[in-house]
Amino acid sequence: MKRYLVIIPDRTTNPDIEREVLGDDVRIITPNAKSVYEIQDEIWNKVDAVLVWHLKINDEVISKLKNCKVIVRYGVGYDNVDISSATKHNIKVCNVPDYGVEEVADYTIGLLLMTCRGIYIHSKRGKDGDWSYHRSDDLHRISSLTLGIIGFGRIGTAVALRAKVFGMKILFYDPYVVEGKDKSIGIKRMSHLNDLLEESDVITIHTPLSEETKGMISDKQFSLMKDGAIIINTARGGIVDKENLCRYLKLGKINCAALDVFEPEPPDGDWYKDDRIIATPHMAFFSKESYKELRIKASKQVKRALDGNVPNNYINVGV
Ligand code: NAD
Repeated sequence: MKRYLVIIPDRTTNPDIEREVLGDDVRIITPNAKSVYEIQDEIWNKVDAVLVWHLKINDEVISKLKNCKVIVRYGVGYDNVDISSATKHNIKVCNVPDYGVEEVADYTIGLLLMTCRGIYIHSKRGKDGDWSYHRSDDLHRISSLTLGIIGFGRIGTAVALRAKVFGMKILFYDPYVVEGKDKSIGIKRMSHLNDLLEESDVITIHTPLSEETKGMISDKQFSLMKDGAIIINTARGGIVDKENLCRYLKLGKINCAALDVFEPEPPDGDWYKDDRIIATPHMAFFSKESYKELRIKASKQVKRALDGNVPNNYINVGV
């Protein structure tokens, strides 16, 4: 008889890595559900821990967790878990903040090169039989460009260090980082988002999705940007207002956008099929190595909680 029951409600069908970390005392169930409502109440009532990918663990689900010690989100962003409800029910919520920093930063630089150097659009034109570069007068030398980074945490910083190698001028806006981080990295801190928007040729977003950042890039912010600005978003779809993005692309004010994240996912409608948008399926984090590291680290958080220890990265500290 196993002592604990752990549910991975979505995505994982073979929990081999989780099983290895959690050991013989734990039974793992993997219903591979598309919605939390596919899972019976009696299962939610019994589980000792939840390891979740993308399903929304809302107040209704959390109210059913009578036995649960911890909810671990596979990933950095935990906007799909109702933190205040978990706190109310005395359940710890953890994320895995560091498994894919290099992957997302490398991916962002990949998107930056594809957009700024016209690689994506020229591949498309070339395949369509347009074998010329003469329509490319919006392409500039990378080292002549200014990169604006919004959110200067783990990934934003890793992007800055990589972009420096290309000789770009780099600005960041993040009201929450300690004074002097600009000096240790050797880039310019902006006190106001608007100033960053006005000065940047390329803008890349690396904040969490929160009440504060939801729709943070919308009509007014697009209007302040340089003509021909490029937007990269690998953070969360909800941060950039898609209606206004499309409007400013149509006006030509925004040159192009590279998006790995959408609200909802997969995106609805056809708007993202515009040739000036690179759209990828929320996979900036992914490499064979990061994926394995993520699963091991997430499972270790569950193990710590089941063993009665405090998990390392828990968000609702005090529970
Ligand atoms: P982090 O917590 O280290 O950094 C986020 C930074 O954003 C912090 O420094 C914080 O102060 C700043 N911030 C918060 N609110 C802000 C605001 N209003 N304005 C400006 N800055 C603000 O997180 P991270 O590890 O760098 O990850 C950043 C985001 O990337 C995550 O929240 C997640 O949503 C996303 N992400 C996406 C993928 C992917 O595959 N596409 C993978 C990992 C992470």
